[in-house]
Amino acid sequence: MAGVSSTPYAIRYTLEFMIKVGVIGVGHLGKEHVRIYSALHGCELAGVFDINPDVKEKFARKYKVCAFNSIDEMALGVDAVSVVVPTSAHYQVAGAFLEAGRHVFVEKPITETTSQAEELVRLAHESKLILQVGHVERFNPVMSYLEKQVADPRFIEAHRLSPYPNRGTDVSVVLDLMIHDLDVVLHLVRAPLVSVDAVGVPVLSLTEDIANARLKFANGCVANLTASRISPEKTRKIRVFSSTHYLSLDYQNQEGLIYWKENQAIHREKVPIEKDEPLKLELAAFVHAVEHRLEPRVSGQAGKQALDVAIQICEEIRKNDFVRV
Ligand code: NAD
Repeated sequence: MAGVSSTPYAIRYTLEFMIKVGVIGVGHLGKEHVRIYSALHGCELAGVFDINPDVKEKFARKYKVCAFNSIDEMALGVDAVSVVVPTSAHYQVAGAFLEAGRHVFVEKPITETTSQAEELVRLAHESKLILQVGHVERFNPVMSYLEKQVADPRFIEAHRLSPYPNRGTDVSVVLDLMIHDLDVVLHLVRAPLVSVDAVGVPVLSLTEDIANARLKFANGCVANLTASRISPEKTRKIRVFSSTHYLSLDYQNQEGLIYWKENQAIHREKVPIEKDEPLKLELAAFVHAVEHRLEPRVSGQAGKQALDVAIQICEEIRKNDFVRV
């Protein structure tokens, strides 16, 4: 009966080494983190916390997990957390979990200021904790294709447009939406940034709701990025020219076209993309990084670099805004 008696030990072994995760902030995006963790291999959803008690109870009941009463209580019950509170609270909340010795996935942008981001990166580094930032497009199957095809981008054009969200407007559209494209561009170009030119205007909120930035890199590459949260439709597109190819990709529909020259003619093909849910791939990568103590694909340092450029763009916008000045 060796097989029968060994089964409970096998189950206990699996459960003991399952990473316990919690989600703090169960709003628009946090509820998707909860859904994904509840079904994700290699982790166990231990519970949720939200300053809104109704929200917290609702999701704790739905997923039959703990509704924690505070950050301190949650830190005692988890190995790792997803911080999905508004950006203005990222520093305080993520910092508290890192100080308590817990691995942290923090949604983008990492924080509101460069010094706050630096502090989170330092805390994680000193305590040897995983700090991953929610730049979800890095896990979009479109991005995996792009990385394989484009070694030397010369020009990148990105459009990220949305209808007005009524949330996330605690920060400029540059920190809210454009930061996704900044992270992708910095990851693809890998050369020092030499100049930034930018314009933007607030329309419905107190910060920029629409913005355009032109970035020039030391290797000659230029990136032209447009972000808006006052558009009638949602668009998430990137176009990349390299010396050999032109790619036009759609993150939202996970499809695109690749163009290249052959025998003095331009050829065009649909790109082969295996569709999947980027957020699921991103959280699975976080759990994997925690389990194996690996450098996450989007580290705290990468999140800080994207934030540094986003802040530079905001400063440039305000310098160029003769109307508001
Ligand atoms: P939301 O307002 O819908 O939800 C935030 C939740 O956090 C609310 O339920 C609120 O009660 C709770 N909360 C606020 N302060 C808290 C605190 N101190 N402790 C505990 N709970 C607290 O916001 P959202 O749209 O889900 O955005 C949350 C974060 O996710 C933001 O940082 C945003 O930038 C990011 N986000 C990322 C993406 C992406 O594509 N990666 C998309 C949307 C939002």
